[in-house]
Amino acid sequence: MTTVSLAALVTVPIGHLCQKFEISTVASVGIQNTSEQTNKSFCFIFSPTSFSTMEPQKERKQPVSKGEKQTTRAKVPLQDIEDLFSKKETQKIRGSLLGWYDKYQRELPWRSKEEKETEEESETRAYQVWVSEVMLQQTRVQTVIDYYNRWMRRWPTLHHLAQASLEEVNEMWAGLGYYRRARFLLEGAKMVVAWGGEFPNTVSALRKVRGIGDYTAGAIASIAFGEAVPVVDGNVIRVLARLKAIAANPKDSITIKNFWKLATQLVDPCRPGDFNQSLMELGATLCTPSSPSCSSCPVSGQCRALATSKQDTFVQVTDYPTKVLKAKQRSDFSAVCVVEILEGKNVYEENQSDSRFIIVKRPDDGLLAGLWEFPSVMLDKEADSSMRREAIDQFLKKSFGLNPNICSIVSREYVGEFVHVFTHIRLKIYVELLVLRLQGGKDDWFGKHKKKAMLWKCVDSKELSSMGLTSGVKKVYAMIQKFKQNVVPANSVPSRKRSRRNNGSP
Ligand code: SF4
Repeated sequence: MTTVSLAALVTVPIGHLCQKFEISTVASVGIQNTSEQTNKSFCFIFSPTSFSTMEPQKERKQPVSKGEKQTTRAKVPLQDIEDLFSKKETQKIRGSLLGWYDKYQRELPWRSKEEKETEEESETRAYQVWVSEVMLQQTRVQTVIDYYNRWMRRWPTLHHLAQASLEEVNEMWAGLGYYRRARFLLEGAKMVVAWGGEFPNTVSALRKVRGIGDYTAGAIASIAFGEAVPVVDGNVIRVLARLKAIAANPKDSITIKNFWKLATQLVDPCRPGDFNQSLMELGATLCTPSSPSCSSCPVSGQCRALATSKQDTFVQVTDYPTKVLKAKQRSDFSAVCVVEILEGKNVYEENQSDSRFIIVKRPDDGLLAGLWEFPSVMLDKEADSSMRREAIDQFLKKSFGLNPNICSIVSREYVGEFVHVFTHIRLKIYVELLVLRLQGGKDDWFGKHKKKAMLWKCVDSKELSSMGLTSGVKKVYAMIQKFKQNVVPANSVPSRKRSRRNNGSP
């Protein structure tokens, strides 16, 4: 029998007013092997719980010394895991959720209906769960299905993936965002193969694989290998916060630990994978952030948020979990110069197979690591066109040796600007198109500069269109194509205007 002390600061909404209650509990968690135990799973037995609300603190207590604190705590009656589910609630929730899941689960390519799987099938399934869970952290299920199917056609097993290059993986991932996760998938696959190729089958072993965190480890271990471990993601937090009417900050580390405890208590020891999926499925389909379908919910009878909302019209189930204000996004600015090197006679002639674009590989660390993009410079602040051109000219000269001695400018046009939003950054991107003709020819110039430290290459429009580009780079390229379609053909531009454009460097 293990005894765990919990102390949490919980904010309980009362109507539109919020008052703070300090809840101090001592939890007794019994972990025993039972007849339900299999070689892969354990049954968690919890003693019955009671729920009591303490008096709100009217004023902040003065700090007390260690000795005083112990005395104060000793006066609080010891409660028996008051913030966990009762045994009856646990059984009811498990049964209701699994029954609902068996009937209503969505058919998804990474879900299997097989009850018994061979060891090899379990390993394939572990890989499928891993890939799908990482993709699902990026975007919606409907978007993920296409990506997942393409990924599995290309790399059907972990061993196939381990043979891939980062560039291939990035190409496949293009548009999903958070490219670091794709890189971790590849590195993780290589790691497992290097260890002998056997897929780790417990949470503790999975946590040693590059890029596999608590959530993904729990998902793989429970779904593919039947280990009775929980998962906690945004959907699970929402469902648990509503079931228990937990209004504490869901981003707070103590609250997150408590969500893991609740999920650990609930997970069904006999069908842990299905149970975890049912909890996530409920959050994704019925217990949605803004319009939960409580009337169809299989666990509405156990939902404290719903019960509270029925008693108090000022409380809504959507008050749980507490909305946390997002940190203010940083504003960054970037000037992108799409450099097109022309070999044909006409700038905007229809057949441009003889023109090339410079693309640059980003550093292997940091934002969008190792991905290809058009030449760009970061700006300290919002900058006018002359400042942007000056910064770009220096960059082109330093990185590619482009200067007025080796090339002539056919045209240089401002194309437009847009804001690309990352999780914590709003990046304003200014786009220009610089069309050049090299004096000594492309091969001569490229041969002289290809040994530069920065990795870059020249690609034609066909190759560019087929590359796995990030959504930001795709947007820039789409702007360029649209601009070219609308622009007046270069050979009809009056010579006076053309000569003015040609004044700039490089
Ligand atoms: S009753 Fe409503 S709020 Fe409660 S768990 Fe079900 S869908 Fe969510």
